[in-house]
Amino acid sequence: MKRIVIIGGGFAGVSALFGLRSHQKRLDLEVTLINDKQRVSFLPMLPDCLGRNVSPENLLLDLAVLSAKMDFNFIQDRVSAVDLLKKQVTASALTLGYDFLLISSGTETNFYNNNEIRERAFKLDDASDALLVRRALEEKSYASYLIAGAGYTGIEVATNLRVFLKKRKIDKKIVIIERAPSILGPLPQWMKDYVADNLKRLNIEVLLNSSIERVEENRIRLSGGEVFENSMLIWAAGVRTADFIRDLKVEKNPQGRINTDEYLRVNASCFAAGDTAYYSDKNNFLRMAVQFAIMEGTYAAKNIIRSLEGKRLAKFKPLDFGYIIPMANNRACGIILGINMKGFLPLLLHYFMCIYRSYGLKNKSGIVKDLIKIG
Ligand SMILES: Cc1cc2nc3c(=O)[nH]c(=O)nc-3n(C[C@H](O)[C@H](O)[C@H](O)COP(=O)(O)OP(=O)(O)OC[C@H]3O[C@@H](n4cnc5c(N)ncnc54)[C@H](O)[C@@H]3O)c2cc1C
Repeated sequence: MKRIVIIGGGFAGVSALFGLRSHQKRLDLEVTLINDKQRVSFLPMLPDCLGRNVSPENLLLDLAVLSAKMDFNFIQDRVSAVDLLKKQVTASALTLGYDFLLISSGTETNFYNNNEIRERAFKLDDASDALLVRRALEEKSYASYLIAGAGYTGIEVATNLRVFLKKRKIDKKIVIIERAPSILGPLPQWMKDYVADNLKRLNIEVLLNSSIERVEENRIRLSGGEVFENSMLIWAAGVRTADFIRDLKVEKNPQGRINTDEYLRVNASCFAAGDTAYYSDKNNFLRMAVQFAIMEGTYAAKNIIRSLEGKRLAKFKPLDFGYIIPMANNRACGIILGINMKGFLPLLLHYFMCIYRSYGLKNKSGIVKDLIKIG
């Protein structure tokens, strides 16, 4: 019997499970998935839980239920160490040996070791975070709303907050704080212009070249001297990989994502997929995106099978369908199949992708109902 261990049951991990499934009996595989939570979240729709009232419950996949259906072992635990030489994975309650390992533990919010911010700020790492933000929005009255980070997530969250407040006729300041001199990092200028224009329409301020200097109980100070009292702070200013990856002696990028070879290998018995993997295709490093996580998980599983069969491994060939920045006032922009798009159509495509890729019929129909309910 060969033992295959998968760390992380998000898009990449679950796609790998599907890829291994049909070979399990034939190759006598014991497949074990370790994930720190029993239910994994469909991340692209977390901001929609704020402005569009999508229920976080409709974004969850129960890995224990899936394990019973698909015949793999599920362990709910947080991996704290991986020994690539001894081929062992250590979590809080156990140590597991493996013949092949897939690391697909994604990323989480990076607070850059700032405990003041960690304790005070909201984040959007999973459905329970979205629920916490939603409850705070409903139960508390803030003087203003600050979002740290003008990347995709920060912008989507800010527009959702404005829609949430507008529906309740609350007119409060929303400010995005961005350390860099422009929004949306390396994205094309036309997209930055479209988004900046839309943020203006929504009366969302953007402070560039600005960062959060101090977070106190009820006061937030920015590097430019601005002070905000009684503000909600949502932190969307960067991600990092799990702690156990930091301790691995392998090549990584500054976010801690693991460089893989063209077969998605870290070494002969360890693969990485999804946001954890830092894979470059002709010197372009792939974005952190659902489509690549799914493709990489599927390919990693394929190459684990080929390794077991003693076959030559398959080179990973990613297909890039494009990307979209959805905003809650029904405007979006993106590049799909090489075509620049803005307006309502890319928004429709985004939600089509979300519904198509969300987990199970019950969730899909729940999401559709939630989206239609609020128009
Ligand atoms: C708010 C938000 C909006 C997004 N919108 C889009 C979008 O519109 N389109 C798009 O393509 N992408 C979007 N993304 C990015 C996309 O969600 C990720 O690229 C994708 O989830 C990566 O999949 P993954 O399987 O690598 O990791 P994940 O989906 O993050 O899954 C990793 C799993 O590993 C678990 N885990 C982590 N550490 C450990 C550990 N130490 N031990 C055990 N388990 C662990 C986690 O709990 C999680 O369940 C968005 C992300 C966020 C946060």
